[in-house]
Amino acid sequence: MPKVARVLIDNSPDLELDYSIPDGLTGSVVEGSRVAVPLRAKRTSGTVLELLDAPPLGKNGKPVPLKPLSTLLGGRPFFSASLIALGRWIAGYYCTSLDATLRSMVPEAVRSEKQSFKTRKRAVLTKLPDAAEREHLSRRAPRQAAILKELAESAEGIAITEFSGASAALKALQEKGFVSVEDKVVTRDPFEDETFLASRPLNLNGAQQVALKAVTAAVESRGSAKPLLLYGITGSGKTEVYLQAVDNVLERGQSALVLVPEISLTPQTVDRFKSRFSHIQDSVAVLHSHLSAGERHDEWHKIHRREARIVVGARSAIFAPLEQLGLIIVDEEHEFSYKQENPPRYNARDIAVVRAGIERCAVLLGSATPSFESFQNTRAGKYDIVTLDERADDRTLPIVRVVDLRTESRKTRGKSPGPSVLSERLRIAMDRRLDRGEQTILFINRRGFASSLVCQTCGHVCECQHCSIPLTFHKKDDRLVCHICGFRQLAPQKCPAPDCRDPGIRFAGFGTERVEEQLRAAMPAARTARVDTDTMSRKNQLRDTLAAFRSQKIDILVGTQMIAKGLDFPNVTLVGVLNADLGLHIPDFRAGERTFQLLTQVAGRAGRGEMKGEVVIQTFTPHSPAIQFARHHDYTGYSEQELEFRQGFSYPPFSHVVLLTSRSTHERRAEFTLETLAKRLKKTLPDDVIMGDPSPSPLARAQDQFRFQLMLRARRTATITRPLQATLEATTIPGDVIVTTDIDPLNLM
Ligand code: ADP
Ligand code: ZN
Repeated sequence: MPKVARVLIDNSPDLELDYSIPDGLTGSVVEGSRVAVPLRAKRTSGTVLELLDAPPLGKNGKPVPLKPLSTLLGGRPFFSASLIALGRWIAGYYCTSLDATLRSMVPEAVRSEKQSFKTRKRAVLTKLPDAAEREHLSRRAPRQAAILKELAESAEGIAITEFSGASAALKALQEKGFVSVEDKVVTRDPFEDETFLASRPLNLNGAQQVALKAVTAAVESRGSAKPLLLYGITGSGKTEVYLQAVDNVLERGQSALVLVPEISLTPQTVDRFKSRFSHIQDSVAVLHSHLSAGERHDEWHKIHRREARIVVGARSAIFAPLEQLGLIIVDEEHEFSYKQENPPRYNARDIAVVRAGIERCAVLLGSATPSFESFQNTRAGKYDIVTLDERADDRTLPIVRVVDLRTESRKTRGKSPGPSVLSERLRIAMDRRLDRGEQTILFINRRGFASSLVCQTCGHVCECQHCSIPLTFHKKDDRLVCHICGFRQLAPQKCPAPDCRDPGIRFAGFGTERVEEQLRAAMPAARTARVDTDTMSRKNQLRDTLAAFRSQKIDILVGTQMIAKGLDFPNVTLVGVLNADLGLHIPDFRAGERTFQLLTQVAGRAGRGEMKGEVVIQTFTPHSPAIQFARHHDYTGYSEQELEFRQGFSYPPFSHVVLLTSRSTHERRAEFTLETLAKRLKKTLPDDVIMGDPSPSPLARAQDQFRFQLMLRARRTATITRPLQATLEATTIPGDVIVTTDIDPLNLM
């Protein structure tokens, strides 16, 4: 029996102290237990991280004398030993405190204990009256008799609200001792009002069978298999493979964790899981940000009580307290939303791989456009890969047309200010859909950042000669700045392309409002709706809008990434991408990858039904590789070209990036802090770390704070983070400056 507990003290800068376990508590104190402990003269609380058989030895070679811990707090621990190990890994890799990391692994609704189980008063039958009494009641008190009859038929009892019109009768029965009223826990079921029609497994096609076999083999290997990448084009039947793989895992008595991006956690995805497992519906827990705190609390406890065996959830569901994990699936593994933007800034996809290693279970990453990190891992032999390269339903991929906005802008010059939102070609295509009663999705790539300079006549983009990413225009000092290496130059007055020289080099931005406005003017007869994070804040708004679109009450749906994923509308035969460049000319080496992914996903939305689909991509730079390869549905071709570029410039996946950001309302102090850190780092970092100069962030000012950043790259993250942490600890940061460290950042703004 372990005699010593190593305890992480709450709200401390990661203070870990050993305490002896008093005799009465041995066996009850386990990893993850919450305990009260004495600290100096006070009592405080903490979490047991580890159990030791004996106290560590002191300098004199004798066991260190330990204070006993005071008591055990709470019931079953929030964390298993595996989750604590995962927390340690995260804290180490992402340079955050263990205390904060563990806190972020349990939903606020569970931790705060402000939420608790919801109870309802229910009437239950305690004893049945004898025959004579029943006879008497049915003659003299028919209400009471009726209540008794109802209660006799329901094992669970009946909520007393059901008897609101008969409270006197109920009271009488209580007094006679036939009925008692008890507080019963009721689960807040987010799907209370829904019924799920059972779906049966489909007969898998050959490629799907191969994929399922590979997953099952990985599950059976109990953790000795490599992570598996399922590369399958949109509509190739990946989800069907997930469903059957999860079924196999349950058959083995194990549990499964399915991560999907928050934005594709649409009713459709959830319904597919709920329907397939409708016979064991209570075993499916769903975790995402649209749940109320109470629902989240209940879903989490359902998992914790081991009732749920399948968890479908967004990013933070990776920490779900499932036991006996057999398989973790990460759908759309390339999605940027798996990255948490607050500390600890983890990527749930990467955490899935780490957790699978700790729990010794299989991990499956699925995507139509795998991240280059994962794809390169398959090329290097670290991951295995299975491929689905045909649509499961024998439908063809849509025709993709590219519209050159440069010629459009020549056509409309002088008629309207700025670029026109709808090209003639797109408008004609939409008109045709309207006539035929078919539907259109218009997609705005809003992630775009409108501060790169793009020539609207020739499509020229001002790029850094050292980094091959677009320079960012900083209006205040009229400079173009590279925020990777810090290179600066004066902003040009006319297009620098030798055969163009157009003085009208302008911003490529156009916003949602402009789109709606032009759409309404151009097609007054069409019924339109907009879907984006701004308009979809209300709980069921997304669901309602999508339902209206599905039932064809809306002709044209305008939206952002939200509508790019996982939706399946048979009557949509046209998808328009209004400005593919918005995502392309951001100062980020992943801009092309991101654009390629979005265009591919968006194209997957067209022609899912019986009818052939068409995609129209509008762009100022029709020849950029991301657009050309997406047009031909050629992931392999794109990845080859893109990986070569990444390797040439030592970008991920051939390096890891660490982004250091300083911000302050005091511009000079933010800049100076980062310059100081850079100077010190230069002395301590090994030679194989590539370090840029501090530069203003592309988002140079946000919420009244000036922002500066410094990018570091190396083959291994620890090469940077070890010296960096030492430097940060040794440097006094001014009180009004905040310095943040982002490991493997996806947002370089
Ligand atoms: P993905 O997840 O790769 O986008 P889905 O699993 O959504 O693909 O499958 C696309 C469509 O094909 C769905 O309508 C699905 O029901 C159907 N489908 C999947 N597998 C099969 C199969 N083996 N036979 C027939 N239809 C299938
Ligand atoms: Zn540069």
